Amino acid sequence: MLKDKCTMTINPLQVGDQVILEHEHFQQLFTALLSRGYEVVGPTVRDNAIVYDTLTSTADLPIGYTDEQDGGTYRLKKRGDEALFGYAVGPHSWKQFLHPPVIRLWQARSDGNSFRIDAENLEAPKRAFLGVRSCELHAIAIQDKVFTGTRYTDPVYQARRGNVFIMAVNCGQAGGTCFCTSMQTGPKATAGFDLALTEVLDANRHYFVFEIGSHLGAEILQDVPHRAASQDDIQLAEDIVARTAEHMGRSMDTTDIKDLLYRNLEHPRWNDVATRCLTCANCTMVCPTCFCTTIEDVTDLTGKQAERWRKWDSCYTMDFSYISGGSIRSSTKARYRQWMTHKLASWIDQFGTSGCVGCGRCITWCPVGIDITEEVRAIRQSDSILTTMIKEQ
Ligand code: SF4
Ligand code: SF4
Repeated sequence: MLKDKCTMTINPLQVGDQVILEHEHFQQLFTALLSRGYEVVGPTVRDNAIVYDTLTSTADLPIGYTDEQDGGTYRLKKRGDEALFGYAVGPHSWKQFLHPPVIRLWQARSDGNSFRIDAENLEAPKRAFLGVRSCELHAIAIQDKVFTGTRYTDPVYQARRGNVFIMAVNCGQAGGTCFCTSMQTGPKATAGFDLALTEVLDANRHYFVFEIGSHLGAEILQDVPHRAASQDDIQLAEDIVARTAEHMGRSMDTTDIKDLLYRNLEHPRWNDVATRCLTCANCTMVCPTCFCTTIEDVTDLTGKQAERWRKWDSCYTMDFSYISGGSIRSSTKARYRQWMTHKLASWIDQFGTSGCVGCGRCITWCPVGIDITEEVRAIRQSDSILTTMIKEQ
């Protein structure tokens, strides 16, 4: 039976309200955001992957695409329908917009006698992030803590973060490397958004159940035709997300994980993974929470102008742990162990939260398919054998 497409405007919308927006009205969300001066950034297909870039209309979305993901594998394929959000996450995360990969911090000019330092203009673009998954909301919350939650605040991040509108998407299907349920970060967006939608699509209907998360979200949706969601609509949306939660591609037992890793710093598994790891740093580049940077100073040939640049760096590079006399982590084993124990153990000591949100990107985009969930499982298995042996002695 065809869903009743009659729409009306509920006036005024409130935070917490749930409303239905028909597929044919989705473009008007773009109009509402663009007319308020937002650059809309969201998923689009480029180079055979779904990446995040500037969008101007619904047509720019990956309509009818889905992705197949596994360790070291990513493929796009057609779904056979017109879904706007029928895929998981791709190689990009939102961190590139909040914590840019390369940024100039200042320039200095010399007139021969003295020099002047010009700070960069930190004015941030007004951006609407469209299609933010629950794991990504958690990743943004983690980076909020890293960049603004301690006594040190990063002004670049703070300026960009303060100018962002977030439209989240509750996942309608899990990717092959997703494990957000293990990390308790998804697949339903529960906080940190202005609007959150669940896409409902079958042979007879195509609409979105929207939840309003902020006054700004209510104001934007007010401009778009909508109707109140019924209990049946809300239940159907809940069922879609519940089904997604049951089909995670991966899982990770996080019980006691901090102490598990701390007491296994000399576990033979680190040698094993070191024979496979290429130290290419892909996993840290695609990870939505990794935040390490390096600083580079450059001068022109006359010596009259110098610039300081900040660039993403990685614990997988030899230079990253270089201090006078050499690198602290010179072996692959030491660098992989540093990355994984920081993510899952020392991050908790540092920031009170895990550094992993279970998005699966590091598994999909590792060229040799190294899988963080498998590495934890291997250590946990032999740790329990060892613990049992000790108890039996
Ligand atoms: S460690 Fe891997 S699964 Fe966890 S947040 Fe980073 S990329 Fe995602
Ligand atoms: S774990 Fe994989 S992605 Fe990460 S540095 Fe090693 S080879 Fe590269």
